[in-house]
Amino acid sequence: MKKLFFTPGPSQLYPTVEKHIKKALEENIASISHRGEKFHGIYKNTQDALRKLLKIPKNYRIFFLSSGTEAMERIIQNTVVESSLHFVNGEFSRRLWQTAVSLGKIAAKIETAPGGGFNFEETEVASNIETICFTHNETSTGVAIPLEYICEIKKKNRDKLVVLDTVSSAPFADVNYKYIDLCFFSVQKGFGLPAGLGVLVVSPAALKTSEILTRKNYQVGTYHSFEEVARYDQKYETPETPNVLAIYLLGKVTEDLLKVGIGKVRREIKKKADLLYDFCKNHSGFQPFVKDKSYRSDTVVVIETGTDPLKIIDKLKKKGLVVGSGYKDFKNKHLRIANFPAHSVSDIKRLIREIKKI
Ligand SMILES: *Cc1c(COP(=O)(O)O)cnc(C)c1O
Repeated sequence: MKKLFFTPGPSQLYPTVEKHIKKALEENIASISHRGEKFHGIYKNTQDALRKLLKIPKNYRIFFLSSGTEAMERIIQNTVVESSLHFVNGEFSRRLWQTAVSLGKIAAKIETAPGGGFNFEETEVASNIETICFTHNETSTGVAIPLEYICEIKKKNRDKLVVLDTVSSAPFADVNYKYIDLCFFSVQKGFGLPAGLGVLVVSPAALKTSEILTRKNYQVGTYHSFEEVARYDQKYETPETPNVLAIYLLGKVTEDLLKVGIGKVRREIKKKADLLYDFCKNHSGFQPFVKDKSYRSDTVVVIETGTDPLKIIDKLKKKGLVVGSGYKDFKNKHLRIANFPAHSVSDIKRLIREIKKI
C-alpha cells in the first residue's frame, strides 16, 4: 500500500520526485563525472533555482554538504575561535550547542523548557561572543521562533555572526538574509526529497571570518573548510564526489516550487497548520504542546494527546497514514505532524478525519 508520510523527516516525497528520478536515470545522472560540463550545469541550475526561491542575495555563497548536522560542525569550526552563544529549547538546538562544546569552544546557552519561547527583550549578548546560534524551528517540540526577533538580535549585535538552522522550516521560512550570516537546511524535510544532502548559505562576513581563522592556522576542517568548498564552488564543483542525484533532484523540485510560487506554497502551509490547530481547539484530547501561539510552528505541529499516542499512531498506520511520535522523552506523550509542501490540503483534511474516528 502507498503510504502517506507526515513524519518530520524523512517525510512524504514531493509529488514530482518519482518523475524526476526516472528522468535522471534516463539521463545517466548517477554515472556522469562530477568534474564535467553536464554536472557543472546541474550544480549551477540548482544554485540559481534556490537563490530565486529563497531570495538569497547574490553575494552570499551556497554550499552543498552532506547533512544538516554536518552544517552545524562546519559553522562552528569556521566561525568560532573561542565563544558561541546558543538559544536552546529542544534537542536540535542542543545538538548545535553540543557540537560547539565537542569542538572545544566556550559554548554559552540560554535555555528554556521544551516547548517554550525566549525572553528576547531582556537578552544581552556578551561582547566576547563571536557567533549566535538559533534553531528557527525546533523539530523535537514544535516551537518556531518568530524570525523578526532574531533580526532584532542581529541589529543590536552587528559585529557578530548569526546562525539560523532552518532544517525543518525551509522553504516555508521567509529568511531576511540581511540579518542572517549562516543559514542551513537538509533536503529530506520541507523539500520532500530523499535524505543525503545539506545546503549551507554563507554571508560574505562569515566567509571572511573563516578566511581569517584559516590564515591563523585554526582547525577549520579539511575538505569541507569554507575556503576549500568556496574554491571548488567557483568551478561549480565540490571537493569530494557529491551526491549528484540529490543535487539534481533538489534543483528540479525547487523549480517546481517556483512554478507554484513561493507565496502560494507558504500560504498553503499556513492554511494547513490552521486546520490542525483548529482541530485541537475543538478536541480536548488533543492539545498543542506549545502554549504561546506566537511560538507555534507551522511546519511541525506537535500535539499532546490524552490517550497513548503510540496507539493512535498504530491505528493511523493501518489507514496508510504515518505520523511521527514524540521526540525522545516525549515518545509516549506527543504526536508530531509534518506540514510540508508535499502535503496537500486534502491530505491534512484526510488525516484530521481519521484522527477524529479514533
Ligand atoms: C532534522 C534536523 C536536523 C538534522 O538534520 P540532518 O540532515 O538529519 O543532519 C537539524 N536541525 C533540525 C531543526 C532538524 O529538524
